Amino acid sequence: MRYQILFTALLSGSFFMANAQAKPEDTEVWDPIPKVVTPGESFRDAPSDAIILFNGKNLDEWVQVDDQSAAKWDVNGNILTVNKKYGNIETKRKFTNYQLHLEWRVPADITGTGQARGNSGVFLASIGKGDAGYELQVLDSYNNKTYVNGMAGSIYKQAIPLANPGRKPGKWQTYDVVWTAPTFNDDGTVKTKARVTVFFNGVLVENNFELWGPTLYIGKPAYKQHGPASIKLQAHGDKSEPLSYRNIWVREL
Ligand code: MG
Repeated sequence: MRYQILFTALLSGSFFMANAQAKPEDTEVWDPIPKVVTPGESFRDAPSDAIILFNGKNLDEWVQVDDQSAAKWDVNGNILTVNKKYGNIETKRKFTNYQLHLEWRVPADITGTGQARGNSGVFLASIGKGDAGYELQVLDSYNNKTYVNGMAGSIYKQAIPLANPGRKPGKWQTYDVVWTAPTFNDDGTVKTKARVTVFFNGVLVENNFELWGPTLYIGKPAYKQHGPASIKLQAHGDKSEPLSYRNIWVREL
C-alpha cells in the first residue's frame, strides 16, 4: 500500500516529469579524445610519451648546475652514481607540470647517521644554483632517526611523509611524483602555490601537498617568481657513501 502511494505521487509529480525529459546522452562527453599512450610492462617502465632523462647509457640530458657544463657524475652498469666532488646536476630541459619516475639506491654499506646517511634529493624545480628549488628528500630512512620533515619522502622541512615505506640500504626504491608548478601574478606575487603528490615504493607519502615556497635549510620559505625549470639532483655534502639513480623519465602535463 505504501509503495502504491509513492508510485502514484511520482507519476503525477513534477519531479517525474522533469526527469522523464533527461536522457543518458545528455551527460555523455565524446571529445576531446584522450591521446593514446602505450604503457610500459610495469609501472616502472616509461610509457610511450615519456621523455627519458636517464636510460643507463649517458648523461646527455644533464648538466652541472654551477657552470652548465656536461654532467660529470658516474655512469656505470646502467646506473648513475652521485659524484660529490662535482656538485648538483640538473636537466637541460625545463618543465612546468609533470609526472616523474625515478629510482634510487642507498649503498648497502652506508655509514653515518641522521641527515648524514645516504642524503641526496630531487629538486622538483631548480630555481638557481646550489640547493635553490623545491626538494623532495632522498635519504636512508630505514632505521635511521632524523627529524620527520627531513625523512625520505618528505618535502624538506615542509611536509612529513604520510608513511615510511623505505627499503633497507642496498635495495632499489622508487619515486613517482606529480608536480604542479606555482603560478605568479604580473607583480611577481604567487597566484597559485606549487602542489605535489608522491608515491614512494608505490605508497602514497605526499597527497596533493601545497608547498609553502622553495625549500630553505634555515628559516621560513617564501615564493619568488620563476618560469619553467630544470629537475635537479643533489650531491649532498655529507661524508657518507654516494647514492645511485636509475630509470629516470618524465611526462609533461
Ligand atoms: Mg637532501
